[in-house]
Amino acid sequence: MKNNSINTLVRKNILKLQPYISFRDQHEFHAPVMLDANESPFGEFNRYPDSTQKKLKNKLAGLKDVSPSQIAIGNGSDELIDLIIKIFCEPKKDSILMMNPSFAMYGFYAAINENNVLKLNLDENFEIVKEDFLTFVKEPVKIFFLCSPNNPTGNSIDDIEFYLQNFNGIVVVDEAYIEFSGKKSSLGLLEKYPNLIVLQTFSKAWGIAGARVGMAYASEEIISLINTVKAPYNVNILSQELILKTLDEETKLQQNVQNILIEREWLEDQLRDIECIAKIFPTDANFFLIKMKNVDQVYGKMLDHEILTSRRDPAIPGCIRINVGSRQENEKLVNLLKNITD
Ligand SMILES: *Cc1c(COP(=O)(O)O)cnc(C)c1O
Repeated sequence: MKNNSINTLVRKNILKLQPYISFRDQHEFHAPVMLDANESPFGEFNRYPDSTQKKLKNKLAGLKDVSPSQIAIGNGSDELIDLIIKIFCEPKKDSILMMNPSFAMYGFYAAINENNVLKLNLDENFEIVKEDFLTFVKEPVKIFFLCSPNNPTGNSIDDIEFYLQNFNGIVVVDEAYIEFSGKKSSLGLLEKYPNLIVLQTFSKAWGIAGARVGMAYASEEIISLINTVKAPYNVNILSQELILKTLDEETKLQQNVQNILIEREWLEDQLRDIECIAKIFPTDANFFLIKMKNVDQVYGKMLDHEILTSRRDPAIPGCIRINVGSRQENEKLVNLLKNITD
């Protein structure tokens, strides 16, 4: 990034905002008499959650080797995508850039905010064409969403520093599937690039999508902006407690990932010689993008047999995105696909 100050990228009205932090969270002040927040005095979950999510951040900081002030926590990384767009993109004026195909939510939140969504078309192997990327750098684009491994294609994007160096705005590296990839996280680049935001989530490898918790890692400056614009109580008490407990069981994460990787390999083996499949794209994630010879027929049969998958056709012609499931689910899928012939 040639720009030295993040502040020049931030919307002016956002720079003027004061964060809402309650007195008790500001001062970590918990009194025997708590009459400040109009809560109920009765029950187990009667108090508001910690709006600063202090315990959670301290624990994550140790695990990820960053400072707690470099972490923002959201109601899923979805909320963080929304907040990042709100912070940097002036409605009706600024644009975001996203890979195509990639995760639809970047475009969804940009559209709500009336920001332009520019699409960087990937090549036939779903790689970025660097010359194409550079043509977008010339436009007034505020944020580049770089999803690696990419959803729905499954491949990782190489040479992330190239995009950080050659973009004059914020680069959001979405690492929702990084644990399945064996690739190095971009967290190690935070010190070097003030325009980097790394997104991670508890929804995929950690296996707790229902808790709705995601993280943004970035410079203290960017994190303080996210903390300023977020709803104060965006992560509820039950989820904060569940995550604290889950973080104590890091071996369980490794076990989870290992099990999925074993299943992924098994599934790929089974799918290799199936007649209705035209191509299985290589994956670094917990899903496969698969091109079918006759996608209408295959998708229809899956629905008939109550097997739910994610149809990507016509955006990605002939393709269906299929999750690695339990062995039982995977077997049902394989048996159905094996029986489709014509
Ligand atoms: C699943 C997914 C997420 C996770 O979103 P949460 O709101 O944390 O559940 C983020 N980015 C991508 C690309 C995803 O596929």
